[in-house]
Amino acid sequence: MSGEASEFEIIRRYLAPLSANEPGAFSLTDDAAIIKPSNGCDLVIAKDALVAGVHFLKNDRPEDIARKILRVNLSDMAAMGARPVGYLLATFWPKDITTGWIERFALGLADDQKRYDISLVGGDTVKSDNDMAFSVTMFGDVRQGTQLRRNGAGVGDIVYVSGTIGDGYLGLKSSLGALPQLNAITRDYLEKRYCLPEPRIELGQRLTAYATSCLDVSDGLLADLSHISEQSGIHIDIFLKQIPVSDAAQQVLGDGMANETDLITGGDDYELAFTAPRSQSHRIQEIASDLDLQLTAIGQVKEGEAVGLIDENGTRVEVSKPGWVHF
Ligand SMILES: [Mg+2]
Repeated sequence: MSGEASEFEIIRRYLAPLSANEPGAFSLTDDAAIIKPSNGCDLVIAKDALVAGVHFLKNDRPEDIARKILRVNLSDMAAMGARPVGYLLATFWPKDITTGWIERFALGLADDQKRYDISLVGGDTVKSDNDMAFSVTMFGDVRQGTQLRRNGAGVGDIVYVSGTIGDGYLGLKSSLGALPQLNAITRDYLEKRYCLPEPRIELGQRLTAYATSCLDVSDGLLADLSHISEQSGIHIDIFLKQIPVSDAAQQVLGDGMANETDLITGGDDYELAFTAPRSQSHRIQEIASDLDLQLTAIGQVKEGEAVGLIDENGTRVEVSKPGWVHF
């Protein structure tokens, strides 16, 4: 490792300070941490690994890479309705990583720890012969019995999604140079949406009272909704024209550089998709205005299986590529 710092030195100098707010982390000086969920709560645990060139771009700012690896994991906490508490971090750094890079990475972690009120509690640092990669295990707590799952959608429920869909996909395309025509404002907006997703933590917690199913949209809206369909044993109809799209994405669509099905199959949204009974729709609107967050009804739950897509004429649309396919 260049910059002369040993693994122990890196832990002591850059990582241990990130654990200062969690007494059970023992300042990263023991073999493991000890964590208890709050009274009346269950522990919720999730892991997401991120690899350079797949989940972030090698030349992204170290601060942004740090924030993104936390945020994709925080998004899973949001999907369960959990309050995030802390995380374990494994880093796989190439041999020529500099201490300057690590310092900036730690600053990014510190920023988002503050923003989301979480602490580092442990982990491992490894030198890698391959590309840079990270693995985070995030944990949080949720009041017993109130967690959001994918399996509770009922016939007649309305399907909602938070924020706007497709920005992350277009931001990635733009970052890779595939949308050179964009003006600077549109490009910056979309690339930021890819680089720094906004986990919907507060929304998830508010939804524990009303939603019948919930997940975060990481692989593409259609693909992810198919998980709710499968786990709940129901059919979902989605109305293409109701999918919320940002002004920036609208501009890309208008210029013919992408189409609507690209946006709902693209992934990297980290918005929440959820179902709630029709009788709760005023509650959902209340949450939207409390949180100043767009929550859009995009479909409905019916008897049957799979996800159907319906265009503005009421015609069913075939989608050949439902979303990101793992392996
Ligand atoms: Mg998820």
